[in-house]
Amino acid sequence: MFSLLCQCTQCQKITGSGHSAQFAVDANKTEIEGLVKKYKLISDAGNSVESAFCPNCGNPIYKTTSMMPDTFVFHAATLDDQRFFKPKFVVNSGSGQLWDHIDPGIERKEQG
Ligand SMILES: [Zn+2]
Repeated sequence: MFSLLCQCTQCQKITGSGHSAQFAVDANKTEIEGLVKKYKLISDAGNSVESAFCPNCGNPIYKTTSMMPDTFVFHAATLDDQRFFKPKFVVNSGSGQLWDHIDPGIERKEQG
């Protein structure tokens, strides 16, 4: 559906870095196999978010949010071939760290 980079404080903590790289898919057309563990958090914008991660290695896999209930937002690193990932925009840049430099050619959007 779309791909993005997110600089919210939760993504900084989840990735241990300055931002996450993610892509969204229609949850009604996507099947999740295998076990994940989830925890709930509140986004910088105040939305309820559930973050799913691998119970064995702890890698973040996908998120769901009350703002987009029919969407899975996967972390780009879950792709078998990450070369196909091209972020279309950046969100939550207001929470970004000064040391986290992102291509200024990528559109900035703010989430509500
Ligand atoms: Zn985020």
